[in-house]
Amino acid sequence: MDNRKGMLLVISGPSGVGKGEMVKAIMAEDDSLVFSVSATTRARRDYEQEGVHYYFKTMEEYKRLVSEDAFVEYAEVYGNHYGTLKSEVYQRMEKGQNVVLDIDSQGAMMVLEKMPECVSIFLLPPSYKELRRRLEGRGTESAETVEGRMAKAAREISRKDRYEYIVVNDNFDEALSQVRAIIAAEKHKRTRFNPDVPQE
Ligand code: 5GP
Repeated sequence: MDNRKGMLLVISGPSGVGKGEMVKAIMAEDDSLVFSVSATTRARRDYEQEGVHYYFKTMEEYKRLVSEDAFVEYAEVYGNHYGTLKSEVYQRMEKGQNVVLDIDSQGAMMVLEKMPECVSIFLLPPSYKELRRRLEGRGTESAETVEGRMAKAAREISRKDRYEYIVVNDNFDEALSQVRAIIAAEKHKRTRFNPDVPQE
């Protein structure tokens, strides 16, 4: 018997830093990780699926969830509302699964306060210039949104000191192996992993 307890992994970083790609890469190689699907009032993008990327909600449904205390944390990001559902987190951790939250820094601050034992990683770009280059390179953002995202990036980055780990995403493969190493070490914290030693 392992006596293994699940961890809560909080990953934040400014838009354009490569957070989505990072989350996808770590999830693909580690079966113990489960993604917490958030509720949002944002419109669904073409490639997104209900219940896979998000639970898409009307403002009314979202407000009801807030009043029912269904969220671990919630925040407004770029004029849309997002929240982490308790139903995505607590039971899974009880079962020993490691739950991954891809959330903004306002929400992350709420999680850090409520669950200080969580593992928090902040992804940094190598520079603001490079972040702008990546945002512009997406080609999906208008000049105005790029400016908006750059301003929000500065606010996000100003909260980085509250996170336990910082990873700079300059070279993606290097950043990925650093995140992998953090997860591997955290799984072996004695508070999470304290197996009995059998006689034979
Ligand atoms: P997007 O709309 O591009 O999918 O996400 C925009 C931002 O909202 C990202 O920084 C993402 O991490 C954040 N986000 C997604 N889900 C949640 C959530 O449940 N809570 C909070 N606080 N932020 C979220």
